[in-house]
Amino acid sequence: MTGDKGDFWHAVREATRQLKAKHGIPCPECRRLHPKADPTILLPGDRCRVDGYRDRRARLTQRDIAELGKRDPLRGTPSADFPEGE
Ligand SMILES: [Zn+2]
Repeated sequence: MTGDKGDFWHAVREATRQLKAKHGIPCPECRRLHPKADPTILLPGDRCRVDGYRDRRARLTQRDIAELGKRDPLRGTPSADFPEGE
């Protein structure tokens, strides 16, 4: 029994979380239609599954994603770029 797969998906989720923190915007249609609900966070080019709003920004490139890789989300350690909680 190894935790490899779990670690992998944890890393994927962590990378997605970081992408959304950096590039995500709250869906304006969610805000308009459901102001009390949490809006969907859209990455560039994403479509909101709730109301079909499409983000018009250019999609993220592999380079944008690789940028995050430099921070090594696999290790889960806060880097110098995220000096929160110190
Ligand atoms: Zn929406």
